Parts: sequence; C-alpha cells; structure tokens
Amino acid sequence: MSTQFLAIGECMVEMAPTGEGTFAMGFAGDTLNTAWYARKCLPASWTVGYCTAVGDDKVSDQMLAFLEGAGIETSAIQKRDDRTVGLYMIQLKDGERSFAYWRSQSAARCLASDRAHLDNVLGRAGLIYFSGITLAILPAEDRTAFLEALHKARAGGAKVAFDPNLRPRLWEDAETMRACVTKAAGLCDFVMPSFEDELAHFSDPTPDASADRYLAAGAGMVVVKNGPEQVICATEDQRQSFQPKPVSGIVDTTAAGDSFNAAFLAEYLVTGDIVASVDAGAGLAGRVIQHRGALVDVLEPA
Ligand code: ADP
Repeated sequence: MSTQFLAIGECMVEMAPTGEGTFAMGFAGDTLNTAWYARKCLPASWTVGYCTAVGDDKVSDQMLAFLEGAGIETSAIQKRDDRTVGLYMIQLKDGERSFAYWRSQSAARCLASDRAHLDNVLGRAGLIYFSGITLAILPAEDRTAFLEALHKARAGGAKVAFDPNLRPRLWEDAETMRACVTKAAGLCDFVMPSFEDELAHFSDPTPDASADRYLAAGAGMVVVKNGPEQVICATEDQRQSFQPKPVSGIVDTTAAGDSFNAAFLAEYLVTGDIVASVDAGAGLAGRVIQHRGALVDVLEPA
C-alpha cells in the first residue's frame, strides 16, 4: 500500500487580529489543518501531501512555502494564472470570534477541473482525506468527477476518509448538500462527522442515528465526534463508544475535529487499533482547544 496521506480541499489566507489594530497573515482551512496535524502524527515512512489549486502570484507562493515548511508535499497543487487563493478575516467582539470570507472565486474551486491530473494524484495516495467543504466549493459537474476519481482510486487500493463538515452556506441548497454528502460517504472507508452538525442538518436524534445513517449509505467505519461527549465508532458488525478525558482551560475550539481526525487516522493507519486511535484523536484535540488558533504545535506532552 502507498504510504502517502493526501488531503484535498482549500487552504485559505487567514488574517487574524493581533490585538493592536493590525492583522497577522497565516494559512488554514479544514483539510489543510488535518494534513498539518497528520504530518506531525505520522511516522517519517509516510509522506503527507496536499491537493488544491492556487494562483500564480506572491501570496500563493507564500502559501506553498508555508506548506513545504510544514513538511507537506505540494507537487499535486496546480497553479492557475486566472485566479488566486481565498481569504478569511477573523474579528473579535467581546471575546467572540466572527469570520468574514472572500473565497467565492478562489483557485481551489478549480481543483477537480483537470480530470487526468486528479486521477493521477488520487491514484498515488494510500489514504485520501477530504471534507464536505471540499465538495461544497466544486462546480456540480466537478463534484461528480471528483467522486468518480475517488471511486477509481479506492478500487486501486487507496483508503478514503471524509469529514462531512456540513456548511450549508457554501452549498447551493441544503438538499443538494445532504444528497452529495450521503453519496460521498458511501464511497468512504472512514466517515468522521461531528454530531452537532449532523443534528442541525440531518436532524439525527442521537450520535448512534448519525452512525446508522452513514453506515446505511455505505460507509465502512463511522466515527462520530461530539465535543466533550462520547465518541462513537461503528462498523456494520461492531459499535464502541469512548469517553474523551475532561479538558480544562478551553480557550478556542477551532480545529478540534480536524486535529482529532488527523491523530485518529495516523494511529489507525499504523496500528489498526481503534482504542488507541480514539485516544490519540481525543488527546490531540483536547490539547489543541487549550490554545488559540487552528494550528497549534502541541504534540509535546503538556
Ligand atoms: P468539531 O471541531 O468538528 O466541532 P467536536 O466539537 O465534535 O469537533 O470535537 C472533536 C473532538 O475534540 C471531540 O471528539 C473531543 O475528543 C474533543 N473535544 C472537543 N470539545 C471538547 C471538550 N469541551 N472537552 C473535551 N474534549 C473536547
């Protein structure tokens, strides 16, 4: 099996307030966050790559340099001269963060437009990771092509992991979101939803109901996260629940799910041990939420 962890989606420029009236530039995005943490969790025998599209300009080059600096391979990233990368700005009001986005014309929306490139990139991966946001930003015809490419890569031996990350505002309508996410889940070895989203957008009464729904769609294993509550891991013939350890001093829950997914998958790919994988996921997420920001270097024991 290939030992490449390949995440696919959109990395954005982040402008975060410094508290002095200025903003500091960083880079983040759900699938990128997971790639970043996966690089820290996986052994050196695995490579971690990111697949997206960026512009042919200075800020895009800075993004690529950032990825490479984090040990993430960028050879699957296409450069386009007609678009550039998306951006979001964080604003603080009374300690609450709000986000403004400029991403509707981002280069990442074209990440699946070159079918041969997509087949080639996915065909080399051992584990392909994507999210509902990856699907949401694609034009409808590219979503279909993307799912076909996933199907082909999986037939060729790749494992596929998916966080539905339901964001209705990025989709044309909620019905399309639910249909597309359900179809995608059916092509996956691991579906890793957060119950809060599933309750809000699929009206699942319980985390078990979310697991049942994704298993019925064809998912191999469903891992339902639920903030401080139990994590459920379910396959057709087994179901276990795990209580994450209590976390004190939580300051920012950004990237809790993204970091959980990275540490869970990294452990599972290497050991196949479900208990150790949930422990790794919850352990990393628990440390990430004790710090501000999406990308926190917290792998050293506290
Ligand atoms: P998301 O960021 O997708 O909303 P969740 O809130 O479901 O993700 O959290 C993902 C994981 O992060 C949980 O399964 C848990 O391990 C950890 N986590 C999140 N919030 C807490 C919390 N308040 N206390 C302890 N662990 C938490």
